[in-house]
Amino acid sequence: CGIIGRIGSGNALDHLLTGLENLEYRGYDSAGVAVQNGAGIEIRKRSGRVSELEETIDAPEGRVGIGHTRWSTHGPPTDENAHPHTDATEDVAVVHNGIVENHADLRNRLADRGHDFTSDTDTEVIPHLVQANLDAGFDNEAAFRRAVEELEGSYAVAVMIAGDHTIYAARSGSPLVVGVDDDAGEYYLASDVPAFLEYTDRVVYLEDGDVAIIGPDGADFTDLAGEPVPRTPETIDWDP
Ligand code: GLU
Repeated sequence: CGIIGRIGSGNALDHLLTGLENLEYRGYDSAGVAVQNGAGIEIRKRSGRVSELEETIDAPEGRVGIGHTRWSTHGPPTDENAHPHTDATEDVAVVHNGIVENHADLRNRLADRGHDFTSDTDTEVIPHLVQANLDAGFDNEAAFRRAVEELEGSYAVAVMIAGDHTIYAARSGSPLVVGVDDDAGEYYLASDVPAFLEYTDRVVYLEDGDVAIIGPDGADFTDLAGEPVPRTPETIDWDP
C-alpha cells in the first residue's frame, strides 16, 4: 500500500517512521522497516498500526532504509506477512505495492530449487528471485533487474541488499516517486509525495517501466534494460 525509502547521513529510522505515518491516510493493516549500516540488514515488522510498530521496536541504526504499510492482497495481515520480506540469508529486503500475478509459478520454481518460504504473500518471491540471481553470480544491480523482469502484474518495488548502500526501485502500474535533497545529501523514495514532503519538495515522478537506483550521491534513472531515461526533479508547491 505505502512505500518509503531513505538514504542520507545520520539515522534513517525516524525519517522512515515519519514517512509511514504520513502515508497512513492510504489505509493499511501492517507496517515494517528495514535498515542497514554496513553490518547487515535489520528488519522490524508487525501487523497493526505504525505507532504500535514504533512502540515495540528497539531502534535499529543505519543510514539506509526502506519501510512499508501493507494492505493485504495475498495472505492475512499477520506479523509474518508484513513487509519487508527477505530471503533465507536475510541479505535481501523487499517492500512491494501491488500484486505479483505469476507468484505461484515463481514460488513453485524457486521451491524446486530449495527455497523455503516463510509467508503467504505474493511479494516473498521477489527477495528469493534476487537471492537466486546473486547466488548465480550476478552483481547486485543485475540481480535486481533480472528479478523484476520476471514479475507479471503491478508493482512498485524497493530492494536493499546487505553491504550495499543503495536502494533499487522499479515501478509498473503502481506509483513511485523519488525525493531529492542534494544540499543535505538525502534521497527518498515513496509511493506518494506526502511521505517525504516535509524533508524535500524536489520530486521525480517515475513512469511505468522505470528503474531508479538511489545511492549516497543521488539517483540514476533507466528503463528495465538499463538505457538511461530523462527524469528531472520538479519542485512541488505546498504550504508547510
Ligand atoms: N500483494 C502484497 C501483499 O499482499 C502487497 C500489498 C500492498 O500493496 O500493500 O502483501
